[in-house]
Amino acid sequence: MTKQKIAMISGITGQDGGYLAKFLLEKGYRVIGLYRRGATDTFSRLKEHGIFDKVELKDFDLLEFSNICRLMKNYQPDEFYNLAAQSFVAASWEEPIYTAQADGMGVLYILEAIREFSPHTRLYQASTSEMFGKVQEIPQKETTPFYPRSPYGVAKLMAHWMCVNYRESFNVFATSGILFNHESPMRGKEFVTRKITAHFARLATGLTDKPLELGNLNAKRDWGFAGDYVEMMWLMLQQDKPDTYVIATGETHPIRDFVEEAGRVAGFDIKWQGENENEVGIDQNSGKVVVKVNPKFFRPAEVELLIGDPSKAEKVLGWKRKVDYKGLCKMMMEKDLERAKNGEL
Ligand code: NAP
Ligand code: GDP
Repeated sequence: MTKQKIAMISGITGQDGGYLAKFLLEKGYRVIGLYRRGATDTFSRLKEHGIFDKVELKDFDLLEFSNICRLMKNYQPDEFYNLAAQSFVAASWEEPIYTAQADGMGVLYILEAIREFSPHTRLYQASTSEMFGKVQEIPQKETTPFYPRSPYGVAKLMAHWMCVNYRESFNVFATSGILFNHESPMRGKEFVTRKITAHFARLATGLTDKPLELGNLNAKRDWGFAGDYVEMMWLMLQQDKPDTYVIATGETHPIRDFVEEAGRVAGFDIKWQGENENEVGIDQNSGKVVVKVNPKFFRPAEVELLIGDPSKAEKVLGWKRKVDYKGLCKMMMEKDLERAKNGEL
């Protein structure tokens, strides 16, 4: 009988943590989920996935080197998926020092702990298209020069280069997945897609009559489905050598397009009026303003366009996404409508 593999997942309570844990449990892994202790219950996603009692949970904080060393020493995991991060770009201007420590230095702690206590452990580092920022090439691929536009992007870039450096210096199996935005019904409500679907669900079911307030409607994103993307994380660690891969759909859409598409599913027919800060979205069926721009949500520096080229991942890892853009909007909007009707929003 072959030995059961151990996968450790940091950020187990987040969007990707839940999907990845479910995927690895189905593959027969023993999953150790790392979470940070808090005063409130943060396990709602694991419960919704129906896997709360199947994951072994351990305390973890990206800033606590001694704890990371102990975990690595005691479990010697075959695979370590580092999904933990201060992941919200907008918050990284409010908390730049913490973001740099957690998203940059935290990854160095993990690499050091692997080097010292568990050199066979394969590391997946959750890198991000935010590292391309003010894009230097369209579409963005593994060889595109980086130009991060937020403390989050800069911190993640440090972590990315540390992975490359530990590969080259110490032979650590450190793979960097440069994932473009990926969403799902489990996405945090501060991110724009989920903010839109949660608000429209509340509007459509009469839980609110206030318009949705958004920032920059013209920024474009390459949105994929988180459930598809976690499979890529695993595939990356099954290769002979550590490497860097871009994971994206190769399609891009402005925020206003997601608003219109989600609106359609919720029963709104949105047409735009006005310009810049005065722009509003009016539902043609009711004549009501359902969206308005609030400059509060503009960012100090914006990433205007992201569109990735996933051909390396498709060729080397043999991967194709299953959910497309419209399918993703529909899935998220329908789930939030169901939650609103059940009093869960
Ligand atoms: P998420 O839902 O925000 O989850 C982040 C996780 O990190 C949560 O479990 C959070 O725990 C944990 N965490 C935050 N600070 C921590 C700390 N100091 N110590 C330990 N744990 C900490 O993010 P996600 O969407 O699943 O993304 C997963 C990873 O991929 C992140 O690293 C993100 O930056 C990266 N990424 C995401 C995307 C995307 O579009 N989703 C794209 C590219 C890269 P709490 O529950 O306690 O807050
Ligand atoms: P990000 O790509 O990781 O920053 O993901 P977000 O979902 O937070 O933001 C995606 C894009 O939506 C960015 O260009 C934001 O400026 C834009 N956006 C416009 N209005 C909002 C808003 O109200 N909230 C958020 N989070 N983003 C917004």
